[in-house]
Amino acid sequence: MIATGSIEDLRASLDAERKYSKRVGFVPTMGYLHDGHVSLIERAKRDNDVVVVSIFVNPLQFGPSDDFDRYPTDPERDHAICEKAGVDILFSPSVEQMYPGGAISTSVDPGPIANLSEGYYRPGHFAGVATVCVKLFSAVGPCRVYMGKKDYQQVVVLRQVTSDLSLPVEIVACETVREPDGLAMSSRNKYLSAEERRAAAVIHRALVAGAEAYASGEVDPGVIKRVVSSVIGQDASVTIQYVDVAGGNDLMPPVVISGKTVVSVAAFIGHTRLIDNIELENQVGTGQPA
Ligand code: AMP
Repeated sequence: MIATGSIEDLRASLDAERKYSKRVGFVPTMGYLHDGHVSLIERAKRDNDVVVVSIFVNPLQFGPSDDFDRYPTDPERDHAICEKAGVDILFSPSVEQMYPGGAISTSVDPGPIANLSEGYYRPGHFAGVATVCVKLFSAVGPCRVYMGKKDYQQVVVLRQVTSDLSLPVEIVACETVREPDGLAMSSRNKYLSAEERRAAAVIHRALVAGAEAYASGEVDPGVIKRVVSSVIGQDASVTIQYVDVAGGNDLMPPVVISGKTVVSVAAFIGHTRLIDNIELENQVGTGQPA
């Protein structure tokens, strides 16, 4: 495995591979890797000849009250996980490499979609995500990019950005990997105490209850939101920030649920903010949640 923090080295390595028509798969991450990340790497390996993983905790996508300063890191463990998973190139740039002098003037604004759903509660977040991803995609070059549906809006936003800017990348959305009790794997789960960790499983249980209500014929977004909220509300240690029902392709709020739809939750457990979601399929009465 090649490990580098240099955009120039990364480009040189990948240009050499492309001379032999090698297909490149790319998994952008913020590190502190877990099995959710590994599932993206495995999928990228199946589909491509060369797999690149990036690890970069991107200051641009964190708000002033977010956890940038305490975001978990373990570069040695991440290196070992990547090596074991068969990653070809591990790209771990410094902030100076990505933002020389500590900042850049250019920003990628994804437009109104960045202010919906999760974006409403995290102003500037998706511009920060879009900016760093365009930089990373430019460094990696033409490739398939593997992203988790755990961050559902991130996938939708980046599909729009790559299409709008004609970037030579294809976004591949991959299923969320969960702990045995349903909690979506996340680097932030490390923040949870044992008691909080136990409580956190209610988020997925609530989303499943919402999907079951839909599968039984409920198409009113307000009712689905109430079902999800009431399940989470049973655990006093979990505070809901939002429960959102949105179109799966454009994230617009539906009047009546039809077609691809996603139910999303953000909740605080102690100081830890967790997000999760579940997709609904357009199969009223008979459908199974995706
Ligand atoms: P992060 O390091 O949290 O920025 O995540 C990097 C990538 O891994 C993103 O595309 C995430 O959506 C994806 N990811 C994070 N958690 C999971 C999970 N539990 N299952 C699948 N993909 C995930």
